Amino acid sequence: MSEEGYDHAAVERRWQEAWDDADAYRTSDDVEDPTYVLGMYPYPSGKLHMGHVRNYTITDAYARFRRMQGDDVLHPMGWDAFGLPAENAAKERDTNPRDWTLDCIDTMKGQMESMGFGYDWDREVTTCEPEYYQWNQWLFRRFHEEGLAERRDADVNWCPSCETVLADEQVEGDDELCWRCDTPVEQRELDQWFLSITDYADELVDYIDELEGWPDSVRQMQRNWIGRQHGTRLTFEVDGYGDVEAFTTRADTVYGATFFALAPDHPISEDLIESDEDVHQFVHEEADPDGDEPNGVRTDLTATNPVTGEELPVFVADFVLSDVGTGALMGVPAHDQRDHDFASKMGLPIEPVVAPEPEAEDADADENAEPSPPDVSEAAWPEDGVLVNSGEYTGLDSETARERITADVDGAEEATQYRLRDWGISRQRYWGTPIPIIHCDDCGPVLVPEEDLPVELPEFINTTGNPLDAAEEWKQTTCPDCGADATRETDTMDTFVDSSWYFLRYVSPGRDDVPFDLDRANDWMPVDQYVGGIEHAVMHLLYSRFVTKTLADFEGLEEREPFTNLLAQGMVQLEGQKMSKSKGNVVSPQRIVEEYGADTARLFMMQAAQPERDFDWSEEGVRSTYHFLTRLKNLVEEFDAEAESSGSESDGDDAVAGYVADEIDATVAIAREEYDDLTFNVALREAQDLVGTLRQYREFTDGEPDPDTFQRGLEAAVRLLAPVTPHLAEELHGELGNEGLVVDADWPSVDVDRETAEKRRQLVENTREDVRQIIDVAGIEEPERIDVVVTPEWKYDALEIAIESEADNLISELMQESHIREQGDAAAAYGQDLQAEREALSHTLEPDAEYDALQSAAWLIEREFDAPVRVVRADEVEESVANKAEPGRPAIEIEE
Ligand SMILES: [Zn+2]
Ligand SMILES: [Zn+2]
Repeated sequence: MSEEGYDHAAVERRWQEAWDDADAYRTSDDVEDPTYVLGMYPYPSGKLHMGHVRNYTITDAYARFRRMQGDDVLHPMGWDAFGLPAENAAKERDTNPRDWTLDCIDTMKGQMESMGFGYDWDREVTTCEPEYYQWNQWLFRRFHEEGLAERRDADVNWCPSCETVLADEQVEGDDELCWRCDTPVEQRELDQWFLSITDYADELVDYIDELEGWPDSVRQMQRNWIGRQHGTRLTFEVDGYGDVEAFTTRADTVYGATFFALAPDHPISEDLIESDEDVHQFVHEEADPDGDEPNGVRTDLTATNPVTGEELPVFVADFVLSDVGTGALMGVPAHDQRDHDFASKMGLPIEPVVAPEPEAEDADADENAEPSPPDVSEAAWPEDGVLVNSGEYTGLDSETARERITADVDGAEEATQYRLRDWGISRQRYWGTPIPIIHCDDCGPVLVPEEDLPVELPEFINTTGNPLDAAEEWKQTTCPDCGADATRETDTMDTFVDSSWYFLRYVSPGRDDVPFDLDRANDWMPVDQYVGGIEHAVMHLLYSRFVTKTLADFEGLEEREPFTNLLAQGMVQLEGQKMSKSKGNVVSPQRIVEEYGADTARLFMMQAAQPERDFDWSEEGVRSTYHFLTRLKNLVEEFDAEAESSGSESDGDDAVAGYVADEIDATVAIAREEYDDLTFNVALREAQDLVGTLRQYREFTDGEPDPDTFQRGLEAAVRLLAPVTPHLAEELHGELGNEGLVVDADWPSVDVDRETAEKRRQLVENTREDVRQIIDVAGIEEPERIDVVVTPEWKYDALEIAIESEADNLISELMQESHIREQGDAAAAYGQDLQAEREALSHTLEPDAEYDALQSAAWLIEREFDAPVRVVRADEVEESVANKAEPGRPAIEIEE
């Protein structure tokens, strides 16, 4: 490093030890309702990456900020410790998933401590420990008892060579090959456990409206995922098979149906596979539900349109999904693009039956004119409109037609359909929570009794198949119901079960009799601020909402939603690219901490962008952040030395001290609001600007600033930075003569509100800009004197009246005030200005406050233009000069 930096390693170690000794981040069980700040717990994959560092710096900074506001804070951390990567890593390294996982946790915990994250480690949870996962098993039992866990057939990936089930992640490439042996993977049906999240679909979608503290994008993704659609169920008669139900949201287009389509696994299709060679060929060889193009095969069957009586050809088609709706649909190519694509490919008729509403003037010309059908030769017209070619429904608008048809037609009824499916939790893997089920030949699947929980994982066996299946001794057991020989379920749970309730475990992690202390959970939940990646927008966040609702229904939890506010943080990129090991463009947090310290890494990240945004890592940015911290440290230390050496009151300019005091107030007020909104970047810019102002102030006073003001400024800067750079803040907090830790310190207090502070700044900024312009336009080389004239009172009063007034004639209202009327022509002219800009008027500082603010800032103008500056009240100058001034815009007189 070229420039000398401070000894960050020593500083950071010192304060990490001090926090440890003081138990600084412990949340006592007695606190009533702490502010619950939570980062999504990590998967222990080896080392922390920059995404983790950003995620956890956000929660840490916010947690520290809330403490400084006087809140009790709950800020825990744990480990999402189950999952397939640990199994793979164990196999590669010839160890076992448990040892590997615990090693990773050890490393990552050390890294978190070196980052200075203030967690209550007494509440740590590790999901691969039986003390945790027994409660997943308990939860499964409760679901089962309430009828929300169901066992049914489902497709799984099967490798015929390894003779094992594969997770989706283990199926590689477009050819869908086994990740171990490159054999093409087949689909098999196996019995799997499902949790009935669809029972909660309506509540899950309805409550999204209430989640006002969540990003709109996440709310919309959840709505789409649940995919609730209101429509009509129509019954089509298929020859030989009787009534077949089809769901549509567009019953108004029923006259335009030109074909009928069945999902490949619809019972009729499955029957046809046996007898129809073409259907057999299509379903087994050609169907590709994930493909871009709709494919299908024509059968010999026809379906009768229940409204028109028309006979429609029946297809088996891969774009019809059996698990969405009924697995059958009517095809309306004129009004649905996918149906249009299919009809074009198959040469089926395309018949428009809904037309755009006629324009108003056309309707005047001929009220009985039929609207002209849209051109659907190239593409479907999917909008609502007016029905054409639709028998007795012709002329109705789409919505009315849907209602009528649903009411009129035999077998038709209103229906709601969801895209959401039940949550399949069975995984044919070792490193997860064993599903607490015993299979008995006589009794079927039987729940493991609560007193026998946890069902612990057996030793890991390195095998190509499922290690649980190979653990013979573990597998053999007796039936809890009849005592006969029986075998254990060898599937484990989806790890999203673990994370669907872990936030409740932090409330009472030591309880070995219940998953969570209900009273405390009711006091402490919901999580006030949750922070994590957008990739969890649907599954984790939806499952957590679902499980919370079931616990509310069955266990007396009072909250039905787990997370009040959610922040989805953006990515840390390198040259516009996502960092990834495979691309080799990874910046290691460890190296940054060693070279520059954790505080630098944290500050750089938090100031680089708003937390939701992606931003580019910049080594130069890191270095300049480091230099900023070094300079701040020097500023504090030198001040300390000065205080000792002079020890006397500085006779610096009072006005300058006043300006600096105003700036301190403004900074504190603004930073408080910005921290509260988690816009750390804005808060930190304020804090850094304050440090810049203090440094200038010291220069301006030749190293002798007013000690009280300067001390207050440094104190404020240190506290404002403390949530983000906690180690250096502790160091400087002590340096400034404070007792105790800065983590326990109060946020600096101010009398001014943000609005006033910003008006003051704006006034000074505008005034300086005006002076610059005048000097520039008038070509003044060396100004002799600059007068800044504050607005006369009457103009300020007129402005206030204009803002409040609802009168049409503003001028006559102003003239009712005698002190304004007395101003004659000047009042009339100003009144007209106000009238003209009435919509855009805003409150300004009162003339006295304007005078004070400008007086405090005069030194800045003096410095910039190298001329004495006089701030003058309106009544001290001639009327003609005074009347040039306006509220928020002083008049400026420059003498050459
Ligand atoms: Zn294989
Ligand atoms: Zn039995």
